[in-house]
Amino acid sequence: MPRHLPALLDQIHTEAQALFGQGRVADYIPALGEVPPRQFGMAVALCNGETHAVGDAHTPFSLQSITKLFTFVLALKLVGDELWQRVGREPSGAAFNSIVQLETENGIPRNPFINAGALVITDILTTRYAHLDYALLGALRRLADDPELHWNARIAKSERDTAHRNMAMAYFMKSHGNFHNPPELVLDNYCRQCATEMSCSQLAQATMFLANKGRDQSLRGEPDEQFLSADDTRRVNALLLTCGAYDAAGDFAYRIGLPVKTGVGGGIVAIVPGVGTVAVWAPELDAKGNSVLGAFALERLVQLTGWGHNTL
Ligand code: GLU
Repeated sequence: MPRHLPALLDQIHTEAQALFGQGRVADYIPALGEVPPRQFGMAVALCNGETHAVGDAHTPFSLQSITKLFTFVLALKLVGDELWQRVGREPSGAAFNSIVQLETENGIPRNPFINAGALVITDILTTRYAHLDYALLGALRRLADDPELHWNARIAKSERDTAHRNMAMAYFMKSHGNFHNPPELVLDNYCRQCATEMSCSQLAQATMFLANKGRDQSLRGEPDEQFLSADDTRRVNALLLTCGAYDAAGDFAYRIGLPVKTGVGGGIVAIVPGVGTVAVWAPELDAKGNSVLGAFALERLVQLTGWGHNTL
């Protein structure tokens, strides 16, 4: 790891501030629109146990689509390859909330990280867990090493009250037999899931298993756990690289070249297999729903550290 990592993070923090004002905070979920725009945090967790943070790295933010990564991993652990009968694993090239491909592809979403695919994943988990929100929180609390981790009820309600497009997709998939539970129930779970809050430091910690061949190392002295098999970890990282940034996945792969997951709360998490994880948060988004400062910060970090050069 670069000895001067704290200095690099300070440098990136300073450079990134020049980009304030270039994006817009998501407001299609009304409560998200109230988040003050000019915030920036970045945290790095390394496989050797070191952690580094800069800016607003300890401020909790709404994970939104980043939760799709965790629900996908839980569903993969639960039903294994059966999952691929209900969702694809190809980049969509369409907006995160696009409905068009569902019509031409018989109600099978392109991948688990666009909204339609994530709704199918939440449907799979809803079948298994009577109280999915608490099952998910349990897993996330363990991964983030924070027993207090919660979802924000106000943001969940705000999204649920305006979730017309997601509801339409759920009903459309149901008409194709690709939705097993009542859409209302799955949407309740999905909106709570998306409203989960973490800080950059917690998010970097919670995704460490993806940098560590599936192994989760607790900061609080609990025994290590093989959270996901090494093979499945490699597969999840491949999907994050190809599908983790909506219809900008190609651009992210070109600029950053790491598995990532973005969310409309302005967070992005990037995995550097064998090295560590990086979480960055800045609420102003570009036209495709990805954090402007977040993408810039990750691009600068790989340029300055050389991370990822030997992982592709
Ligand atoms: N809860 C958001 C939605 O379904 C998540 C979108 C995102 O972060 O991309 O619209």
